[in-house]
Amino acid sequence: MTPSTPSGCDRQALLTVSAWPACQNQAVNLAATLNADLHCHSTISDGTLTPEALAARAHAAGVQLWSLTDHDEIGGQQRAIDAALALGLPYLTGTEISVTFAGRVVHIVGLGFDHTAPELIEGLRATRGGREARAREMAASLAAAGIPGAFEGALKYVGNPDLISRTHFARFLVDGGHCSDVPEVFRRFLTEGKPGFVAHKWASLKDAVGWITRAGGAAVIAHPGRYDFTPTEEYALITEFVAHGGRGIEVVTGSHTPAEFTEYADIAREFDLLASRGSDFHCPEESRVDLGTLPPLPDSLTPVWAALADRIHRPTTVGG
Ligand code: AMP
Ligand code: MN
Ligand code: MN
Ligand code: MN
Repeated sequence: MTPSTPSGCDRQALLTVSAWPACQNQAVNLAATLNADLHCHSTISDGTLTPEALAARAHAAGVQLWSLTDHDEIGGQQRAIDAALALGLPYLTGTEISVTFAGRVVHIVGLGFDHTAPELIEGLRATRGGREARAREMAASLAAAGIPGAFEGALKYVGNPDLISRTHFARFLVDGGHCSDVPEVFRRFLTEGKPGFVAHKWASLKDAVGWITRAGGAAVIAHPGRYDFTPTEEYALITEFVAHGGRGIEVVTGSHTPAEFTEYADIAREFDLLASRGSDFHCPEESRVDLGTLPPLPDSLTPVWAALADRIHRPTTVGG
């Protein structure tokens, strides 16, 4: 059977398309109203649940298409694929790449790529390579502000020694009684001008989009409402992203307000971008939005999963 991709208006599409990689097909609902959750984090980056526990939580919450998008890391992808398929849950490979654009940090989600692609693996390895040195500088900055031992403290929360992040420092600062919760940490520490902040050069936009695209996936701008860009800067980000081959934008994310769902739906239509949806779930105690609980995409958008139909890992049998 020839793979087919429904248009944005084909909202009730229930298609059986040739599976990738080759396996017995199971029909996957590709409608825009699908409960897809294509953004979350495991212990392989800065989440607190394993890929297997996330798969179970997504499945229990009624997620119909899932992706694990660890920061700068795809070491959890095979575990996520195996866990999802064992539950009968369709799966798209995922990652969230840290990018420096116009001197600021932008996150680019990759979906539906070949997770064995050497160029993507090497690009992500290089991107996360500077994290340990950065973490030691962050700890030195916190020590100068009267908080010693932060490197060793943060390491206690790290699941993957290659991926020490600000989130792990935040958990150390909360559990050590320096702040009452993670949002307070990011108000008082770890952000520009505050103790513990260390500027860092991440991947370029061109490289991040290229690695994902050449591995067969779609690049998506993560939580665009979270960047402090002027309209001109945002326009520059989107046009450069598209020029490099970027295809989608997160519209419904745990980082957006309902007003931003509408705002970025309009931007997706204006720039002819595919729309994505994901909770950005990290931790049951910390995350405001749980897996699978966001509203559906607004009307008349083309969901990113419709364009990635042939990249979905499909269960061979209908799961319970
Ligand atoms: P890093 O990649 O080490 O710079 O860490 C970035 C991570 O810190 C993000 O992916 C979030 O998980 C977390 N983070 C950043 N800003 C905030 C914030 N204001 N509130 C809560 N978590 C945040
Ligand atoms: Mn994170
Ligand atoms: Mn992000
Ligand atoms: Mn994220």
